[in-house]
This record gives sequence, C-alpha cells and structure tokens, in this order.
Amino acid sequence: MTNKDKTGGERQSRLRLARSKWLKEHGYNSAEGLLGALMRGEVALQVVSVPTQRAADICPRCEGTGSYADYIGKRACSLCGGTGKCR
Ligand SMILES: [Zn+2]
Repeated sequence: MTNKDKTGGERQSRLRLARSKWLKEHGYNSAEGLLGALMRGEVALQVVSVPTQRAADICPRCEGTGSYADYIGKRACSLCGGTGKCR
C-alpha cells in the first residue's frame, strides 16, 4: 500500500492548511471571519497590479496608437488626445 492519494484529498488538506495558516497570520480564525470583516467594511480588497507587456503609461483605450476604430471608422483617441499615453 502506498500513501499516494488518488482522490486529491491530500492536496485539498494541504490547501486547507495553507489557507488557515494565512488566515491566522492575518488575524482571522476562518474564511467566514474574513468575509464578515469584508462585508462590514472593516477591511478592503485591493487589486494588485499585474505586470503586463504594456508600458504603464500607455492609453488603455487606444493602446498607445493614438487612434482607435469604432463603427464610424478610425478616429483620434479622445482619452489621450491622440498621444497614446495616459495623462
Ligand atoms: Zn488613447
């Protein structure tokens, strides 16, 4: 008999352990406790920016080209004023 768990239960319990460790480190006893704090507005979610291939100051609408195409046709980007960069 081997200890290999084919059901994935081992992975699940590892995940559970890591999760409860993280929660404890952040001052919560359970995921429900964290969720409750979130819902009461005691804590806030923050989106961490993920590095992309785009430069940080590139206009999100035209993606740096300074113009974009819509149903009318190609037009100068009004978000960046045609510069392709965020202000
Ligand atoms: Zn633009």
